Amino acid sequence: MNVKEIINNKRLKKELSKEEIEYVVSNFIGGDIKDYQISSLLMAITLNGMSYEETFYLTEAMVNSGDILDLSSIDGVVVDKHSTGGVGDKVTLILAPLLASLGIYVSKMSGKSLGFTGGTIDKLDSIPGFNTSLTEEEFIRELKDIKMSITSPTANLDIADKKIYALRDATSTVSSIPLIASSIMSKKIAAGASLIVIDVKVGSGALIKNLDEAKTLATYMKKIGTYYKKEVICVFTNMDIPLGCSIGNSLEVFECIDFLNDIYTNNLYEVVYTLASIIVSRVFDITYKEAFIKVRDKVKSKEAYHKFLEFIKYQGGDINKLKKASNLIEVKSDKSGYLNYIDAFGISKLTLDLGALRLNKEDKIDYEVGINLNKSVSDYVNVGDTLCTIYYNDKMCDIDFLKSCFKVENDKKSDLKIIYGIE
Ligand code: URA
Repeated sequence: MNVKEIINNKRLKKELSKEEIEYVVSNFIGGDIKDYQISSLLMAITLNGMSYEETFYLTEAMVNSGDILDLSSIDGVVVDKHSTGGVGDKVTLILAPLLASLGIYVSKMSGKSLGFTGGTIDKLDSIPGFNTSLTEEEFIRELKDIKMSITSPTANLDIADKKIYALRDATSTVSSIPLIASSIMSKKIAAGASLIVIDVKVGSGALIKNLDEAKTLATYMKKIGTYYKKEVICVFTNMDIPLGCSIGNSLEVFECIDFLNDIYTNNLYEVVYTLASIIVSRVFDITYKEAFIKVRDKVKSKEAYHKFLEFIKYQGGDINKLKKASNLIEVKSDKSGYLNYIDAFGISKLTLDLGALRLNKEDKIDYEVGINLNKSVSDYVNVGDTLCTIYYNDKMCDIDFLKSCFKVENDKKSDLKIIYGIE
């Protein structure tokens, strides 16, 4: 086989065979196919797409490039929830203890932030002592002991995705739907769970900007799931506005603590309760309404909060040492009216300037900084009211630009839809 011919076939919009795809992935991992050749193929795929079959074969080749976690010793459904990435998205840190408190196993390998979206691992790393680099044995032991575990992917898991994603990031080929589907699904399949639930974020603060694209992505991921005999549920959620009221690592952990003590922002409530109720209804084979009541009870009784504390302690974290930056600036409104919109993408750029996110993989971040929203979309705002609070250390962001992220208008716009659908 010849890589130049394979690249040319994709350039000519031909469908690649299973053998061709396996050949490319294994020889790229082995070093015989070069970065520039894969980059060229990735661009041809981005321009000309891939059939469902091609994504099955690509996913398979990626899964087989590394270890596959064997969770067969776990007796019960193991859930893996994934988000395609958003601003202020701390759902995993709430959902996992909530489900575990109901007796459902939640196994999660998460990533660090890159670019404008945050990462669960950075949020956990903001807790002093917390170990986000478990071995496979430690990960499975914790799952058995407390029904949940969250770690960074082990080095040997889906080696192909790590190498291919780095090239996609450098060659503007991240946005290809079949490549996103194979990237996400290969990691989920290698991580071994039986029920995969994907929060597909849609909007200006997300990788996927509109619902049509999100639905196409979901179709690819569900078909890959069927190929692997795994159930995949996709929930489409709004990412035009930040999720919840905090953006920044330790600030978001503080918000999770509030949420589990039943203090919450409405859009975060909707996303968490929808995902939790769908999973609980599917695992226990009960109605959505019955599932919702079970979930609500676990928050009200604080059992979910105690599970969260147990999880933090199990992985060595000391929640009492969690800190936010002590320098604050309150940003006030110049107008009165209804807060109709908060620009998620803009807020995310500003938290990057404060040091809460990283542009390049090797960048250091500041876990204590970020932005807390003091007002939510639909609130009435008076002149002089605090719109948000900046928590900073040694870097500052553009405060005029931050103000412009809040759209205060005379007339109230109809309520934003938070959940767009479930498939
Ligand atoms: N998340 C992933 O894991 N992979 C992608 O390609 C995009 C988002």
